[in-house]
Amino acid sequence: MPLGDVRAMLATAGRRGRAVGSFNVFNLETIEAVLAAAVARGSPVIVAFTERMAADFDLETLALVVHHRATALDVPVGLHLDHGQSEAGVLRALRAGFTSVMYDGAGIPYEEKVRRTRAVADMGHGFRAAVEAELGHVPRGSRQGEVLADPGLVADFVKRTGVDMVAVAIGSVHGLKAGEARLNFTRLRAIRRETDAYLSLHGSSGIADADLRRGIREGITKISYFTAASRAASLAMRESWPGGRNVPPYAALSIAARRAFQARIQERLVVYAGTRVR
Ligand SMILES: [Zn+2]
Repeated sequence: MPLGDVRAMLATAGRRGRAVGSFNVFNLETIEAVLAAAVARGSPVIVAFTERMAADFDLETLALVVHHRATALDVPVGLHLDHGQSEAGVLRALRAGFTSVMYDGAGIPYEEKVRRTRAVADMGHGFRAAVEAELGHVPRGSRQGEVLADPGLVADFVKRTGVDMVAVAIGSVHGLKAGEARLNFTRLRAIRRETDAYLSLHGSSGIADADLRRGIREGITKISYFTAASRAASLAMRESWPGGRNVPPYAALSIAARRAFQARIQERLVVYAGTRVR
């Protein structure tokens, strides 16, 4: 089928007590791993590409590949620009055929962030794409720089920016290992009460499955995941390389990495399917 409307995918997931996984890719192998996992689980997925990666992997080529591969699949696939840094970067992704875009806006004062996010949202909607922005700030690597999402701002933020999805900073941190961070459910509930926008969680690798399942029950419908699959792929490459002077074929390392990456994503899709009966 053609690339999916991410809002429709999230609406369906929400009704079924599930979340849609947004999986970061950066080369052909990771794209294939995400799509193979989606097919194996019969599950919708969002293929996500972080704007910063565009320096190393051509964004237009990535969009062509994902469009081409998704057409042949029976599961809905969305294509999302993750952490878009500028209006120009978001526009490039929209022109390439991304069906969903995030505007990062980290560190920008609130009023200015509202203004810039509104401009990106109008642009994204002009391309019929879904638009995500972050409320608060989910830090990277440690709690330093964390700004928890303010429930008192969420209604104002969504109304004035027009975004469809809000990435909420509720305790997760990009780049951690499972169980190293906990979600603040009191804050999540307070945010949920204030808005009907889809709520998205970043930094999910650091959150234990029990917390993720509870987060889904309490209204998270989009979950970004990368770090743990990336670690698993790197470890699989190390295991395929016994050491010494014997250099394994590049293809063997690449295939081992791809398989490990896919296995972790398939495992996530089981968790994101939630626990509520349809
Ligand atoms: Zn993120």
